[in-house]
Amino acid sequence: MTYKILLIFSNIGGWMLSPNEIEVDTVRALWEGFFDQFEYRDRINKLSELYPDEKSLYISFREITDYNNEFSSNLIEYPEIYLSIGESVIREDIYPARINDSRRVNIRLLEVPEQDVQYEIRNIRSQNVGKLISVSGIIRKNTEVLPRLQIAAFVCSACGEINNVPQDRGRLDEPSRCQHCDTEKPKTRFKLDTSESEFVDVQKIEIQENPETLDGGAQPQRITVILEDDITGRIFPGDRVTIYGVLKAEQKRAGAVPLTEFNIYVYCVNFKKDSKEVESVKVTQEDEKTIIELSKQPEIIEKLARSIAPTIYGMEMVKTSLVLQMFGGIRKTMKDGTTMRGDIHILMVGDPGTAKSQLLKYMAEVSPRGVFAFGRGSSAAGLTAAAVRDDFGEGRWTLEAGALVLADNGFAAIDELDKMDERDTAAMHEAMEQQTVTISKAGIMATLKSRCSILGAANPKFGRYDQNRPIVDQIDFPPPLISRFDVIFKIIDQPSREKDEKLALHILAAHKVGEIYKSLESSKIEDIEVEEEKGMVPPVDKETLRKYVSYARSKVFPRLSEEAIEILKDEYVNTRNAGGESIPITARQLESTIRLAEAAAKARLSPIVTPKDALLAKAVVDFYLKDVSMNNGVVDIDILLTGMSSGQRNEVETVHDIIRDMKRENKRAPTVQSVIETAVSRGISKERVTTIINNMKKNGMIYSPNDRTVDLVSRD
Ligand code: ADP
Ligand code: MG
Repeated sequence: MTYKILLIFSNIGGWMLSPNEIEVDTVRALWEGFFDQFEYRDRINKLSELYPDEKSLYISFREITDYNNEFSSNLIEYPEIYLSIGESVIREDIYPARINDSRRVNIRLLEVPEQDVQYEIRNIRSQNVGKLISVSGIIRKNTEVLPRLQIAAFVCSACGEINNVPQDRGRLDEPSRCQHCDTEKPKTRFKLDTSESEFVDVQKIEIQENPETLDGGAQPQRITVILEDDITGRIFPGDRVTIYGVLKAEQKRAGAVPLTEFNIYVYCVNFKKDSKEVESVKVTQEDEKTIIELSKQPEIIEKLARSIAPTIYGMEMVKTSLVLQMFGGIRKTMKDGTTMRGDIHILMVGDPGTAKSQLLKYMAEVSPRGVFAFGRGSSAAGLTAAAVRDDFGEGRWTLEAGALVLADNGFAAIDELDKMDERDTAAMHEAMEQQTVTISKAGIMATLKSRCSILGAANPKFGRYDQNRPIVDQIDFPPPLISRFDVIFKIIDQPSREKDEKLALHILAAHKVGEIYKSLESSKIEDIEVEEEKGMVPPVDKETLRKYVSYARSKVFPRLSEEAIEILKDEYVNTRNAGGESIPITARQLESTIRLAEAAAKARLSPIVTPKDALLAKAVVDFYLKDVSMNNGVVDIDILLTGMSSGQRNEVETVHDIIRDMKRENKRAPTVQSVIETAVSRGISKERVTTIINNMKKNGMIYSPNDRTVDLVSRD
């Protein structure tokens, strides 16, 4: 049978004539020829055997191009029509017996040449509607997979026969007249019979532009993608994907009233998970030469440190640590599947106006796959992730990724970390150590990956950093979380004539250089030498730094040398045992030192972690431990992280046990007086006991049922 139809298909929402007449039989013949020539018949055979466990035929776009160039460009131009004809060829012509008309098979395209179809999300326009396109990005949200009616079976109340009506997305299409008895509404009524209807699994996702494609600080754009059938439920927030699909438009509505504006979305034909290893920054062979040259320079780490945020004065140790953080240690996976994080987490706590935010923004910009966010996130997902029910899900639950998931395999700068909400605080432990975020809510069980290094900034609770208080007292942040940071800096803004003068000159010079650049822009004067410029020009420019880091992260995986192991071990044992009563450091600090040492080797593009790398790492950890410890140089990790020395903690435990035991014995809460007496008899001074009891009350460990007694707050 040959017939020619003028194809009408849903373009920009309404009905539009196709600019070309497409002859169905010609297209059908093209597909058949293609299937023969490229040996797809066997695969179609296989598919029909496996159906419905397998419902898709994967076809290489390259082969289609090889077969017939015009055919493949038409496929890009009119994908819906071409694919649906191809699908019906598979269905009807080849296996009419097994795969009947109403059942669905999908053609899923592979190897679509990016240059022909690739768009940035922000560049998608109405002229692309109806075409085959590809977009890449990070998945920000996905909904549950739910069934959608594909072919609705309506039972006619007049004759009892079934009318099958194919359905589009959105409102349910009902027949107005019965195909069998010809009775029209309202003389007959139609009732939907779900058991006779055909459903398809549908999932809606939202992808967001990859951060590295954005010009510094631009807001990432997003687009919705619809997945159907066998490709649903396979991708999750935080995944990086390339979607191939048909750009579609859907009319906006205000209630039931259709508007003239349209939303666009991509109907997914196939997707590809982007391999995480592929680095985001393009490094050419020439770049590689420059990078290797650079790495051979003496003191390269110091040079890289001076290249970070050149307008910010001082903070040498902070900048050195930030350099090491950019390169990161090595993530290890053992035979039994346990992993050890390689990412280095850094926390800065300090006075307002000390360039913390400035540094964070800079780092997010220069780091490959960098993300900047605030502790109190602007979305429901916050820093980690959340399951929400909102408009996007249209009644379904949506899983939404927060900053740390979006920064997977990259870097997250989190400003005002102390302001994060309770839900995030609870999820952060897992996010920082296991580097995953687990959501289990409303039947959604998902573990999302958050393998990123975190640079956090926090402001002191009382406005200014108080050197006489332990760090835990100064930020609203639970001690176990603080201990997950490899390096912690306090940044103090204390007047000092000498330092203030240098800082002021530096800031003034930066402003002057900026002013000169501005005036050069408008006056077209060629390059003039500026004295001040010298201090502002980094040894390694931003673009090269980015490439350098990206190159090292993807190419260099150093190993600890025996000498480095010896040094790290000795330093650990010696520091541990020099503290007398106190516990200066724990195994955590050893692990941090290892990560930093590995990072130092990476920064030199060295395959070996040398003693020098170990010593630099050690210097960073020592600096921070001394810097934030209060005991004037005597490091005590317990004071640092819990606000109590181990001796003091023992006293607290003693008092706790006294209260517990007395309560057990007397079956009621003991009096304060009796607790104090017992504690004194065990060698704690009366003043200490009183302080301890007050602190325990403050921390919520105990409470006073009345003025005279104290009781433990039960924890169940
Ligand atoms: P914070 O986040 O610590 O409160 P900001 O990053 O907002 O501080 O810094 C406030 C301003 O002070 C910024 O414009 C910053 O450039 C400037 N500033 C503070 N410290 C320095 C410094 N050491 N060198 C140069 N500029 C500085
Ligand atoms: Mg700030």
